[in-house]
Amino acid sequence: MARDRGTWSKAGRPAVPIPCATSNACAQDHTTDMRDFSADHRWLSINTATLRGAGTLDRIVEACVRHGICAISPWRDQVHAIGLERTTALVRRYGLELSGYCRGGMFPALDAAGRRRALDDNRRAIDEARALDAACLVLVVGSLPGAIEGKPQSKDLFAARNDVRDGIAATLEHARAAAMPLAIEPLHPMYAADRACVNTLEQALDLCDALDPARGGRRGVDGSGRAALGVEGSDRAALGVAVDVYHVWWDPKLEAQIARAGRERLLAFHVCDWLVPTKDLLNDRGMMGDGVIEIAKIRGWIEAAGFAGYSEVEIFSTEDWWQRPEDEVLATCIARHRTCV
Ligand code: ZN
Repeated sequence: MARDRGTWSKAGRPAVPIPCATSNACAQDHTTDMRDFSADHRWLSINTATLRGAGTLDRIVEACVRHGICAISPWRDQVHAIGLERTTALVRRYGLELSGYCRGGMFPALDAAGRRRALDDNRRAIDEARALDAACLVLVVGSLPGAIEGKPQSKDLFAARNDVRDGIAATLEHARAAAMPLAIEPLHPMYAADRACVNTLEQALDLCDALDPARGGRRGVDGSGRAALGVEGSDRAALGVAVDVYHVWWDPKLEAQIARAGRERLLAFHVCDWLVPTKDLLNDRGMMGDGVIEIAKIRGWIEAAGFAGYSEVEIFSTEDWWQRPEDEVLATCIARHRTCV
């Protein structure tokens, strides 16, 4: 990346990483056998929400290919906008891998018909993920019905959690048949009302253990061809987790819960940074190195647990990164991947 020390981003923050705590040199201290990301970006994946400012998915894919990026994780709305067939053709033409597919979930509903619609939609999401040969389908599980539209129709968080448990249980069979692992993404507690009533890695893993106690092996999914997970063979659990540093960095139990997850349940690793101050709880995520998350330390933990897949950059940023040209965003992602992840 250009030597822009001293320049400032549009959000008024330093355009260079906060030093030391997130540097690769420090990363080496946490574990000796972490993969070295400093020389290339083989294990960088771009969650296509990061380039929401760049237009349609075909344009985003072409930008990623221009920058030698090997993997993406697309969102369903972006796929639907250009069509599943066209997306599949693009992915194959460029030999891209999918570190995940975003997203399924949103299980809770006020009535049985609403819950059935959610299950139908999740089955479609699994089929789309299968067609794209994604490493997993990410689940943002949902919470109080109506809350995401700003009009919660219930205050019963326990009912929402029951819907989530039952919804995942009902979806799991289809996921197994499609050999598509489901990755529960625990979301930061600030989203407990509207986006996800699963808010810690521990809570997500409790669900995994309750619904998929066999955790992988021959009773998991057929993982052959799941190179995006960085592993050969079929030892992925049918149900696991997506660890997004933005959601879990604050958790005092994080290291222990990552170890508990183990390689079978660690299905995805999402990176960005927590800005101080954060101006918008949804759409002010920071570029790696611009905030306070010790990303390399967390990567050390998940790699010590056996994860060897992609580091997926997922940045929602209406005021800053979505305003910038896609080539600048990607060049910065690559530079920070090599120095701050
Ligand atoms: Zn994420």
